[in-house]
Amino acid sequence: MKTVEKVLIANRGEIAVRIIRACHTLGLGAVAVYSTADKEALHVQLADEAVCIGPPEPTKSYLNQESIIEAAKMTKAVFIHPGYGFLSENEEFARKCRKNKLKFIGPNAKVIGLMGEKATARQTMKDVGVPVVPGSPGGFSTFEEGLCYAKKIGFPVMLKASAGGGGKGMRVILREEDFVKEFSLAQQEAQHAFNDNEMYLEKYLPHPRHIEIQLMADQFGNVVALHERDCTLQLNHQKVLEEAPALAVSNKTRQKMVDISIQAAKKINYVGAGTMEFLLDDPENFYFMEMNTRIQVEHPITELITNTNLVELQLRVALGEKIDLAQASISTRGFALECRINAKEAGKITALHMPSGYGIRVDTALYQGYRVPPNYDSMIAKVIAYGHDRNNAIALMKTALDETVIDGIQTNLDFLAQLLDEPEYLHNKTDVNWLEKLTKVG
Ligand code: ADP
Repeated sequence: MKTVEKVLIANRGEIAVRIIRACHTLGLGAVAVYSTADKEALHVQLADEAVCIGPPEPTKSYLNQESIIEAAKMTKAVFIHPGYGFLSENEEFARKCRKNKLKFIGPNAKVIGLMGEKATARQTMKDVGVPVVPGSPGGFSTFEEGLCYAKKIGFPVMLKASAGGGGKGMRVILREEDFVKEFSLAQQEAQHAFNDNEMYLEKYLPHPRHIEIQLMADQFGNVVALHERDCTLQLNHQKVLEEAPALAVSNKTRQKMVDISIQAAKKINYVGAGTMEFLLDDPENFYFMEMNTRIQVEHPITELITNTNLVELQLRVALGEKIDLAQASISTRGFALECRINAKEAGKITALHMPSGYGIRVDTALYQGYRVPPNYDSMIAKVIAYGHDRNNAIALMKTALDETVIDGIQTNLDFLAQLLDEPEYLHNKTDVNWLEKLTKVG
């Protein structure tokens, strides 16, 4: 009998469930890991095996590299899928997997490191011909250096943490006189969140849209771009609602973004799923912001418009398959949007009804009676609508959100429903700051 190869999923929540399903579809075994807070979690129930890796605190469980590697060895897993967040962009972890003869699903450790250090990533992209937001040539740690660059770039500037992510350690600095104070606050935040105080600067763009290109690369140098997503709607630099395709991008610009992204991925020998994030400051002008070297939360909208299963593709690439898609044959159909349902508090789900029906997909790990633990990311479900055009997808989403019942804890469902009624949203007249302003007015 052929032994089934196993994938250990070093994650929790909806993405762990998503990966387990993809493993099973391909006939692969799925090993879950969990913290003591997640004993009753859905991913533990759906996996073939589950190993407890520590207490609730992420640093002692889902970020505990030794425990996870031990769990993989114990269960004889061949692959480790890191999902998003946690260890998904951790160079050291990718390297440790390899040392322990485990196949980390993603690019090699060096590439993760190169893109994870954001100031270095900017420079690398610049070197391979990708336009980047004008800014400091590299990272720095003193305000004197920073101020010197800021004056050269011209205020307002955007100060960012080199090791940044999730909007942490980021500050818009409007005037020279605010620099010292803002710099020290942002640096403290960076030090606290990433244990790294290197910062870098970019020109602050007043009204950009956030557009990103989904890439998939195999181990043989084939890279395809599965078109773009528009993730302009954000609060505290965190995405709230995502759309695909991006209607604000002209065809010419879209093509340029796709070509440049593919070229860059080839030059850095990229393997696996990755996303090139850009800021678009008018329909023709875009700048590279960062590359995420993992699957993203919003991947389902790309799956719907391109009719591809991205997580399955990640697994196939890891299994050594070639991507046999010609770039010219990848087209999009219809329009998809995703709403991120967030919990505002921990607690027990006393009643649950998730929407379904034509054009609706829900990715979640919730079930009735489940207790949302206080220790992790607040995102508890993604509602995804797929229609023939933007208006249709919005209409499907509204109906879906209306139908959704999550009792027992407070969520952002009402907020999302209201957002879908905003005239500026409906006319697609937004930028990355729009939602923030709206919440301050409202
Ligand atoms: P993180 O990795 O912490 O999420 P990013 O560098 O991806 O940070 O930026 C997050 C968001 O911040 C972007 O999507 C955009 O809304 C805003 N942003 C980033 N850089 C700039 C800039 N130079 N000008 C204006 N807004 C920016």
